[in-house]
Amino acid sequence: MIDLRSDTVTKPSEAMREAAASAEVGDDVYGEDPTVNELEARTAEILDKEAALYVPSGTMGNQIAVRAHTERGQEVLLETECHTYKWELGGIAQHSGVQARTIDGGPRGVVDPEQVHAGHVEADGHRAGTGLLVLENTHNARGGTAIAPEQIDAAAEAAHDSDVPVHLDGARLFNAATALDVPASRIAREVDSVMCCLSKGLGAPVGSMLAGSTEFVERARRVRKLMGGGMRQAGIVAAPGLLALDNRERLHEDHRRARELAAGIDDIDGFGAREPETNIVLVETDEPAATVLDALEEQGVAGVAFGEKTIRFCTHWDVDDAAIETAIERVSRV
Ligand SMILES: *Cc1c(COP(=O)(O)O)cnc(C)c1O
Repeated sequence: MIDLRSDTVTKPSEAMREAAASAEVGDDVYGEDPTVNELEARTAEILDKEAALYVPSGTMGNQIAVRAHTERGQEVLLETECHTYKWELGGIAQHSGVQARTIDGGPRGVVDPEQVHAGHVEADGHRAGTGLLVLENTHNARGGTAIAPEQIDAAAEAAHDSDVPVHLDGARLFNAATALDVPASRIAREVDSVMCCLSKGLGAPVGSMLAGSTEFVERARRVRKLMGGGMRQAGIVAAPGLLALDNRERLHEDHRRARELAAGIDDIDGFGAREPETNIVLVETDEPAATVLDALEEQGVAGVAFGEKTIRFCTHWDVDDAAIETAIERVSRV
């Protein structure tokens, strides 16, 4: 099976397993796990933020950020197709008691400053007010679009004009940085908090990072505990996470393979794929996505339905050049 469902399906490398086995550990809830501390310090440095927090998943990272930034009842501005709004079980309502006001970011999921101004609600005797703006980069559901730092800056500035903080869901921040050829820290420069996943294209078995000011991370640490995300000898999983940070350099290979996959599939009757910006390929199908996916599975290719007639394929380090070629061949049989 050529598994193109997600870049989360990667298995940890031998080096990661060895790092896990030999990791120095302590009780991280007491702040005493040296490996976790190193991972947090190194992430803060890479993202040029004061501090960072290791969390079990990207979802928890986003949910902690929303809770740490907002008060109950407030409105949160989010892009219509963003993960925090659409794919986290309504968590922002469940965990933080906030309500969503969505912004349509168009085909690339880019939130304009004018939209932020228009969506902003001032708190008064009747209205709870806007408590947070959430941005996403790369934008998953919009096809892994890599949004330019200037566009992130502009939206963030619009929120800051009204004293509204900004959280960036950078589950694939390093894919965006690779595609745009800028440091990840540049993309996150104007946002108050940023989450990035170690367990996607970087290949760690588990874990995500949430970074921001020292004061924000202190609050986030308390929320993590509240949500049950305080882990004890977490150095066992943080050690592969440190190696994952070194995998940033190889993401461009996933992007090249995604372009090759898209071009190959686009040439096949009944399929359409626009050129991907990163490692996510959205394919439009003439037949319903579910039907096509069933047929693909029989041929030995797996993807996920991302709409009635849209399939998402994701490249990652367990998919090499030969696998891409075979995948295209198998799609053509379908
Ligand atoms: C995968 C993903 C998440 C959630 O990460 P998990 O570790 O799967 O919880 C959040 N945001 C985006 C954009 C993602 O793609």
